[in-house]
Amino acid sequence: MTRTVLLVEDNLHNRYLATFLLEQQGYTVLGAADGPAAMDLARNHAPDLILLDIQLPGMDGYAVARALRAIHTTVAVPMIAVTSYAMPGDREKALAAGCTDYIEKPIDPDGFVARVARHLAISAAGESRA
Ligand code: MN
Repeated sequence: MTRTVLLVEDNLHNRYLATFLLEQQGYTVLGAADGPAAMDLARNHAPDLILLDIQLPGMDGYAVARALRAIHTTVAVPMIAVTSYAMPGDREKALAAGCTDYIEKPIDPDGFVARVARHLAISAAGESRA
């Protein structure tokens, strides 16, 4: 079964790279450049995992995380914050906003792909127990 990843990233280069890495793994990628676009995609496509840039125009990633947790299709899917702010406390802020995990930019391609696969596997295991 094809897994669908919602990728929220405003930087075109970063979005292109992440899309390339995810599509290489066989995932379907839904790209959004801001929070409202991400919310529309979440409502209409029920993604299996979300990658969420924190530094976004308009609604920041924390606000987008909270909004996605209020949409029924994305209440419980794995949501990984991706941020170039390497400030102490950012990880805790991301987790408090509803994210499952946190990755710092620049992303390491192998580590990035492995992290996504691990969260999808954990999520699938949870679904099969339910
Ligand atoms: Mn950004």
